[in-house]
Amino acid sequence: MYDSNDLPCPVIRDSKGYVSEYTELDWAYRVREELDEALAAKTFGNRAEEIADAITVCVSWLNALGFDEQDRIDLFREINKKNRDRGYMEVFSDELCKADEAQQGEA
Ligand SMILES: [Mg+2]
Repeated sequence: MYDSNDLPCPVIRDSKGYVSEYTELDWAYRVREELDEALAAKTFGNRAEEIADAITVCVSWLNALGFDEQDRIDLFREINKKNRDRGYMEVFSDELCKADEAQQGEA
């Protein structure tokens, strides 16, 4: 269906330099910068790309905090469950998550 190349991947550098040198404030600024670009986008496609850029920055920030791919999968599974339990997710997503959990239970 999809693999880790289809998921947001952390970057090790960007136009400002190596992200390993970023402070927490640098990360927050970079997220804000991408969101500003999303708000300023003139087309639907450009807006989607800028939102995806913001996601990439957030994933890179998590990576910099020590969350590897499996840690991020575990984290998002927890977050998705929390949001599903709160009723924040669409029925379609809810059904997919439940099917996913059922499949894991069988493994
Ligand atoms: Mg951008």
